[in-house]
Amino acid sequence: MNSPLSRIVVVGNGQAGIQLVDSLRAEGHTGGITVLGDETHLPYQRPPLSKDYMVDGSAAQALPLRAEKFFTENDIDSRLGVRVTAIDRAARTVTVDDGTKVPYATLVLATGAANRGLSVPGSNLAGIYGLRTLSDAEAIHARLGDVGAVVVIGAGFIGLEFAAAARQRGIDVTVLEFADRPMGRALSPALSRYFVGAHERMGVTLRLGEGIASFTGSAGRVTSVESTTGASYPADLVLVGIGVVPRADLAAASGLAVENGITVDSSLRTADPNVFAIGDCANYPSHHAGTRTRLESVQNATDQARHAAKAIVGRSGSYAQLPWFWSQQGPLKLQIAGLVQQSDTTVLRGDPATDKFSLFSFRGGHLAAVESVNRPGDHMAARRLLEQGRSASPEQAADLEFDVKSYSKAR
Ligand code: FAD
Repeated sequence: MNSPLSRIVVVGNGQAGIQLVDSLRAEGHTGGITVLGDETHLPYQRPPLSKDYMVDGSAAQALPLRAEKFFTENDIDSRLGVRVTAIDRAARTVTVDDGTKVPYATLVLATGAANRGLSVPGSNLAGIYGLRTLSDAEAIHARLGDVGAVVVIGAGFIGLEFAAAARQRGIDVTVLEFADRPMGRALSPALSRYFVGAHERMGVTLRLGEGIASFTGSAGRVTSVESTTGASYPADLVLVGIGVVPRADLAAASGLAVENGITVDSSLRTADPNVFAIGDCANYPSHHAGTRTRLESVQNATDQARHAAKAIVGRSGSYAQLPWFWSQQGPLKLQIAGLVQQSDTTVLRGDPATDKFSLFSFRGGHLAAVESVNRPGDHMAARRLLEQGRSASPEQAADLEFDVKSYSKAR
């Protein structure tokens, strides 16, 4: 059965690529599967890298996505440390960096995203890091024991998770954010405001509205960060967390459409019927956003992989999974169900002073998204409601006596 004619080749062995190969076997694909990844580690989960791993990397090792034996037991040809350099869509082959060509019947691009770089004077000094891979995390973790002051650039999820972890280790942390609120792309303004206070309580110095002018160093190593306001912050280590760009170069070079990611249709297929794209690298028509979007989350990678596997074995349909997300920042578990940007009204459930509350957001009176801090029950209930297209009223959501969990389970 393992002829090239039925071989499915996956570029990228991260969250999406590994779920895809698993789902292909679960869906009954008996033909060959090759998964090619340019990292050398056994595929692993990224989320712990900015959280537990930074607090105590030796105790909380990065978790593998699957046990090593998974690949042999499922007859999956997994190649590590292998970079795909070209796609020939006419010949249906990919070229890897040692020059070999791998033929495919179906190709799945699960290439993820790469950290956005910062190019200001001094940005190539030692001690300035990005955090995307286990290798990045290992390098940062190895330095953290020796640093007194850290500057984080960007108050997005990864920057703030890392800031909270560094504070747990007793390190001085300053976060510089160009925008006027943290996590502004994903959170409601009210929740951003809450997190400003929460990080201040953790001892983080959070400076909003400050961009980066330059880095200063000594003996080739960073010693301070100068912001656009003229302020200077001492830094033994700098983490740059200013977002990512989708890894779409391979697709673009092969003539596939790329616009903020690889353009796919509602079945996650590109304009070439033999090529799919999933996860952080894919720009898809979102049922929930009502527009094209590209998401960066474990849920998105996993659900898109499951969907693409079904489509490949002939069970197609429109991808319409509910987006959800989590982040852990010190003692605060943030969970988001739905897309907050689509809402017009926000209702508070619970008391932020207790660090346990949710914000229910509505669009035209209908539930659109729920952000929860340390209220996992609200999050799960919200996911059930949103998945079923149901709503609670704003009055019900605000009333702690209203049992949203039972309501979400009743049909
Ligand atoms: P990736 O996991 O990035 O995998 C893509 C892989 O493809 C990479 O290994 C890449 O090296 C490889 N690749 C790319 N191009 C090639 C090529 N040409 N040849 C061979 N291999 C190639 N999400 C959450 O929902 N919650 C969280 O708490 C959370 N925390 C995070 C913390 C960190 C530090 C990071 C970095 C991300 C976090 N995320 C979180 C996001 C989540 O991990 C990503 O959305 C998810 O990993 C995306 O999966 P993916 O398979 O699309 O991409």
